[in-house]
Amino acid sequence: MDLKKLIREIPDFPQPGILFRDITTLLANPEGLKYVLNTLTRQCEALRPDYVVGIESRGFMFGMPLAYTLGIGFAPVRKPGKLPAAVHCAEYELEYGTDRLEVHRDAFPAGSRIVIVDDLIATGGTAAATANLIEKTGCTVAGFAFVVELTDLGGRQKLPDAPIVTLVQY
Ligand code: IMP
Repeated sequence: MDLKKLIREIPDFPQPGILFRDITTLLANPEGLKYVLNTLTRQCEALRPDYVVGIESRGFMFGMPLAYTLGIGFAPVRKPGKLPAAVHCAEYELEYGTDRLEVHRDAFPAGSRIVIVDDLIATGGTAAATANLIEKTGCTVAGFAFVVELTDLGGRQKLPDAPIVTLVQY
């Protein structure tokens, strides 16, 4: 299936000069959605994960149904101040300044194998910070899964050594 036909491109969003890959048009297409979830499921099964982690917020849209199809649990990684119980934090660099992600300290038993899911990898900063969080919980990153990879930004070089699943590359 040609996923590029289902992913809309919006110029100058959220800032001038950025070409935003909009996956809402893919989500709205039943065949596209089925293809993406079936393919992610098949490829992530091989990683033998115990849990899926989805990164706020588009990572939830793929990560949660993926956990369901894999028959395993899901945990959210969220922006600061959103999770109600005790959290681990990881900071990461943005173009200007830093941002922070959080996960519940008791999200998974220590030693669990985690697959990290987001809609898209660009510079890799967000996913690398999430891998850092997973290590703080005493768990292992079994792999990463992204629907879209922006290859020119070299994001995969920033990630720790683990398999990386991506379905469409630009
Ligand atoms: P990174 O940290 O530079 O790899 O950026 C990845 C994060 O930014 C992910 O959480 C994406 O959802 C978001 N992101 C960056 N560019 C796009 C885009 O073109 N479309 C959708 N999400 C994007």
